[in-house]
Amino acid sequence: MDLKKYIASIPGFPKEGIIFRDVTPILETPEAMHYVVDAFTEFAKQTGADLILGPEARGFLFGVPVALEANLPFAPVRKPGKLPRETVEETYELEYGTDKLCIHADVIKPGQKVVIIDDLLATGGTAEAIVRMVKKLGGEVVGLGFIIELDDLKGVDKFGGIPVCVLTHFE
Ligand code: 5GP
Repeated sequence: MDLKKYIASIPGFPKEGIIFRDVTPILETPEAMHYVVDAFTEFAKQTGADLILGPEARGFLFGVPVALEANLPFAPVRKPGKLPRETVEETYELEYGTDKLCIHADVIKPGQKVVIIDDLLATGGTAEAIVRMVKKLGGEVVGLGFIIELDDLKGVDKFGGIPVCVLTHFE
């Protein structure tokens, strides 16, 4: 399937100089959604994952159906102050400044294998922070799935050889 047909490119969003890759047309097209979910489900099964993690908010949209299809649990990765139970957090670098991500501390048991699902890989900072959080809790990230990779940013270099499944590429 040519997934690019279902990705809208929006110049100047959220600010000038950026072309935002909008994945919502995938959600509007069951055939495209099945394609994405099936590809990531197959990938997650190959990695032997025990758990799927998805960062807010678009990682939820694709991570949850993949987890369900693979018959695996899903846990959300969120910005601080959103998760009600005890959390583990990790700070990561943005272009200007830093940001934080959190997960519930009890969702990962030592030795568990985790696959991270998100819509887009840019610098890799978001996913790298999640890899560190999983390690802190004694788990291991065994795969990362992204619908889109922005190739020029070389985010994939941050993952030290962990298998990465990318469904389509932009520069
Ligand atoms: P990174 O941490 O790899 O630099 O950025 C990836 C994160 O930013 C992902 O969670 C992704 O949802 C979001 N993101 C950054 N740029 C875009 C974009 O153009 N389109 C979409 N859909 N998400 C983006």
